[in-house]
Amino acid sequence: MTAGAPIEGLDVGVYTIPTDQPEADGTMQWSSTTAVTVRAHADGCTGLGWTYAAAAAGDVVRELLADVVRGRDALDVRAAWSAMQKELRNVGRPGIGSCALSAVDVALWDLAARLLGVPLVRLLGRARDDVPIYGSGGFTSYDDATLRRQLRGWVEDEGIPRVKIKVGQSWGADEDRDLARAHIARQTIGEAAELFVDANGGYTVGQAVRMGHAYDDLGVTWFEEPVSSDDLAGLREVRTAVNADVAAGEYAWSLVEAQRLCAAGAVDCLQADATRCGGYTEWLRIAAVAAAHNLQVSAHCAPALHAPVAAAVTNLRHVEWFHDHVRIERMLFDGAPGAKGGAMHPDLSTPGHGMTLRSDADKYRQA
Ligand SMILES: [Mg+2]
Repeated sequence: MTAGAPIEGLDVGVYTIPTDQPEADGTMQWSSTTAVTVRAHADGCTGLGWTYAAAAAGDVVRELLADVVRGRDALDVRAAWSAMQKELRNVGRPGIGSCALSAVDVALWDLAARLLGVPLVRLLGRARDDVPIYGSGGFTSYDDATLRRQLRGWVEDEGIPRVKIKVGQSWGADEDRDLARAHIARQTIGEAAELFVDANGGYTVGQAVRMGHAYDDLGVTWFEEPVSSDDLAGLREVRTAVNADVAAGEYAWSLVEAQRLCAAGAVDCLQADATRCGGYTEWLRIAAVAAAHNLQVSAHCAPALHAPVAAAVTNLRHVEWFHDHVRIERMLFDGAPGAKGGAMHPDLSTPGHGMTLRSDADKYRQA
């Protein structure tokens, strides 16, 4: 076991991967996804972290954060995190700054576990054997056959008992198609699997309540961002009116923003994203704040990255098995965990989170 090794430096990579077909949700459309990776080095070991963000997040790492962590003890991850957060004051912690912080923090936790020769989930302190997942995709850009095929793949082929589709098409302007697709989804997965919907903030409050009642009739159990996650009162209003659990939190860039969602009574389950909120360090604190409000947490996207930290909290509901990121994490990283029977099972045989950059990832490299 090695301890007390100084961090020698950070490497940044920017990779852009085209989607397998055009994708859209209620309020955005896209044809590629960019991942910004950070590798942190100390005493012959390398830790890997990443965020899904614009390439500018990599510039923030190079320009502001690399010098802050260089020379620090690689095991003092929280001290490095605190110094990085302070360094971001004038450029802004939310948004790109928080994505940069997240990628470095994850790399440092991975590095620390590798230096100690233990699986990351052991270093964090394991709370559970299984990390439940839900299949997530169901883009509004899919035709009905593609939607059915994806849902059947998750439920029938992979045994995932919960799936999520996007609704709120065209900022809520196509309610008929939303309902038609939700019907198709329920018909495809049957009654045994749970059906979730995500409007990505595309509805107004009144519309979300009205649509929510229709989703209730289809047995929908999770209504994500029915209205903008900036509208805490609106989320709360929808929450009290519909049966489905209302969820939000994917744009909580910090502990404070997550705390506001909890304290406002805006959600039945808090979402948090370790690639955005400030890495594993902040994700764990957010989970603790949720617990203090008697709420569970659900990890937003990046399933491979979330596997170890999700296994380390007692109040976990599930991790989002997001179509794009499942695909990208396999294309960029060796050792990305699979799922069986609707859950991931973090690897207890490999140091760190167990993932490394693939040698053939360079074909997607932008910078
Ligand atoms: Mg969402």
